Amino acid sequence: MEGDMKTMDSEQLREYAHKMVDFIADYYKDIETFPVLSQVQPGYLRELIPDSAPARPDSFQDVLDDIRDKIIPGVTHWQSPEYFAYFPSNSSIAGFLGEMLSAGVNVVGFSWITSPAATELETIVMDWLGKALKLPDAFLSTGHGGGVIQGTASESVLVVLLAARDKILRKVGEDAIRKLVVYISDQTHASMQKACKIGGILPRNIRILETDSSTEYALSPELLTKTISQDIALGLIPLFLCATIGTTSSAAVDPLLALGKIAKSNGLWFHVDAAYAGSACICPEFRPYLDGVEEADSFNMNAHKFFLTNFDCSALWVKERNALIHSLSTKAEYLENKASQENMVVDYKDWQIPLGRRFRSLKLWMVFRLYGLENLQVYIRNRIELARKFEDLVKNDARFEVLSNKYILRFAVGAPLTEERHVFAAWEMLQEKAYALLKRL
Ligand code: PLP
Repeated sequence: MEGDMKTMDSEQLREYAHKMVDFIADYYKDIETFPVLSQVQPGYLRELIPDSAPARPDSFQDVLDDIRDKIIPGVTHWQSPEYFAYFPSNSSIAGFLGEMLSAGVNVVGFSWITSPAATELETIVMDWLGKALKLPDAFLSTGHGGGVIQGTASESVLVVLLAARDKILRKVGEDAIRKLVVYISDQTHASMQKACKIGGILPRNIRILETDSSTEYALSPELLTKTISQDIALGLIPLFLCATIGTTSSAAVDPLLALGKIAKSNGLWFHVDAAYAGSACICPEFRPYLDGVEEADSFNMNAHKFFLTNFDCSALWVKERNALIHSLSTKAEYLENKASQENMVVDYKDWQIPLGRRFRSLKLWMVFRLYGLENLQVYIRNRIELARKFEDLVKNDARFEVLSNKYILRFAVGAPLTEERHVFAAWEMLQEKAYALLKRL
């Protein structure tokens, strides 16, 4: 290939990668100077970027200039300390270095032989995280279960739904798919319904159980029992229950123990979605939220939300790994190898939708090693303390309610750079807006 930049050359990589790291470090240095929400209009980039790819190479400096002048204005700054929208999506130096290394070695570790370290590190580090969360031993790799890193919580819930579906259909016959029923609450993340759509569960067989403020929007065991009984009476087959620890819109916590017992006695697969809030449970004082997880068949938390691990890293554990493998394993002559055929190894391609997979465990491993569990606990506690401070500010202002049954303001504290001054500044801005609004009424 002609031109200045080679496809790969270690000295050139060193030179340009240093420049890119400087660029990123400057981005973090200046991050507070950007408006958190991108101010561009839809289609803005079409005006700024040519319609077709360049025939001849551009210089690296030209590209960096364009990133600064054309791309960064169209970025919404999720890592800004003044970012309080949706949910946290943490990056950290350790997570970034792990991501960099993963991009650097660029392996496609779908089976053990394609990169043994990628598979083995993932198994080890998922056991580390499982132990940090005090998950029951049945979720660890030492028994019949184990952990796997998926891209997102949406993929996690899809693969366990497929495993649960196929497990029951093997018993009752594949024609029964139209009778399978899934139970969720009106607070459950929309990814569950998408999984049902992909997994062939009829929309009319998704039971969206109502919640209310009297239980802080937790799923009611009584309502679940009643609904399951009604479905059985209709000749339907209860398949799957999804409970949530920390729902996205209301941070509701479902009562795992009671729900798990109902699921077990009715033969349902019980999945616990802790994508958003699960990280907090590495702190002993928050671990009680997970009590009852021992009843679950699968458990998921997103390390890329609140655990300093750069996107993407969704941690999924199952108690029965064979259920996943039964549904998702692929066989092809070119994939055959001695270690796999002799069942000596894990092949994570059989625990997920795609064949190819990234070396994601590197960043989780580096987060653990470079921060240590104690510092990670301190990090989480500090963020929760900032959220509590914000709650106090709201409670002490009669014009705001902390929770109402109507339209609510969500304020999600969790960005690594956020300090008290950012929370206070956001509160001042909210007060100003409220003042202006109330003056108009
Ligand atoms: N479940 C919960 C509770 C969430 O908060 C989210 C994301 O906000 C998801 C699932 C979906 O996450 P992902 O983007 O990893 O699919």
